[in-house]
Amino acid sequence: MIKVTLGLTCSVCSSQQFYLPIEPSDGDRVKCANCAAYRCRVDDLERAMVATSRRPSSTRPVAA
Ligand SMILES: [Zn+2]
Repeated sequence: MIKVTLGLTCSVCSSQQFYLPIEPSDGDRVKCANCAAYRCRVDDLERAMVATSRRPSSTRPVAA
């Protein structure tokens, strides 16, 4: 497992640090690094990240 900071918040302790599985023995679950609450599966995390990063107004510079 690796500890990473995500743009997601733990619903239990509001931490933004999570453990991501990197080996088959780690399973496919993402857990909160602070309270170990089960967050979601890796597959779901990808969708959650996409949904989180989707903002109404773009802050990216517009290529002219
Ligand atoms: Zn937590």
